[in-house]
Amino acid sequence: MKIAILSQKPSLYSTRRLKEAGEERGHEMKIVDYLRCYMNITSHRPSVMYQGKLLENFDAIIPRIAASKTFYGTAVVRQFEMMGVFSANESQAISRSRDKLRCLQLLAREGIGLPVTGFANSTKDIEGLIGIVNGAPLVIKLLEGTQGIGVVLAETTQAATSVIEAFRGLDANILVQEFIKEAKGADIRCFVVGDRVVASMKRQGAPGEFRSNLHRGGTAEKIKLTPEERSTAVRAAKTMGLKVSGVDILRSNHGPVVMEVNSSPGLEGIEAATGADIAGKIIEFIEKNAAKGKTRDRIQ
Ligand code: ADP
Ligand code: GLU
Repeated sequence: MKIAILSQKPSLYSTRRLKEAGEERGHEMKIVDYLRCYMNITSHRPSVMYQGKLLENFDAIIPRIAASKTFYGTAVVRQFEMMGVFSANESQAISRSRDKLRCLQLLAREGIGLPVTGFANSTKDIEGLIGIVNGAPLVIKLLEGTQGIGVVLAETTQAATSVIEAFRGLDANILVQEFIKEAKGADIRCFVVGDRVVASMKRQGAPGEFRSNLHRGGTAEKIKLTPEERSTAVRAAKTMGLKVSGVDILRSNHGPVVMEVNSSPGLEGIEAATGADIAGKIIEFIEKNAAKGKTRDRIQ
């Protein structure tokens, strides 16, 4: 097969591994910087141009779209979909996953376990917002934050009020969440491909840190999931319409709760922690599922 990896950086571990895994299995792999693609939208024959040439005869694409480039990146993915090329994740699902509130709403509708969450834009009724999660301690998040930046633990109602007031000054969208203390600074990353969890790791925050992000000094190790955690991760991925995803779960007293579903989960940390060949699993999934026109051309 001829497979394009849509990635800005050929040197990234995830990009390299996907290329390597595809080549090992006898496929022709091409890394395409999606920001440098240009497209003819009006033509009867949709096409994508790259470095002065048409990108033709691809059987599949693997989108690795950066969060900050979602708008243009998903437009490129959509163009491939219009050409009938199979995408490991559909453009629509990628866009959906980039909107945290929309994700939580969709997951809630499916009855998937979530931390009790309230959200607001520059709320005047701080008390009411804090009331939704039954008071302090609670976690306050800036919707636009990533890698744990903009995630604050407020131990008291007074602290929570000051933080929300400060965020209000930034004209930011904020989300208030019950603090899952019993998770003890750890979360679980489940890597889902198709309808299976292919690897899972526990990330533990640095001592005294409630955020488990590896970028914040956390450590990772392989972990065995309970059947409930496994099915929660698979259901969450399915609800988002993602075929390749990273589902982040916290172990709470009321069962597994989903924090986030990521549409371009990194391979490095989890392959290192678990020894799993995740890149190989993604290529295998494409081999089994890529057929022309299988990705629905959904422009809505
Ligand atoms: P980001 O998307 O910026 O990584 P997250 O929402 O994933 O932000 O939060 C970062 C980390 O903080 C999580 O990995 C988790 O360890 C911790 N955390 C987030 N929300 C809660 C919560 N409600 N209760 C306990 N810990 C939390
Ligand atoms: N275009 C669809 C809608 O707006 C998308 C559905 C979805 O993303 O869940 O209804």
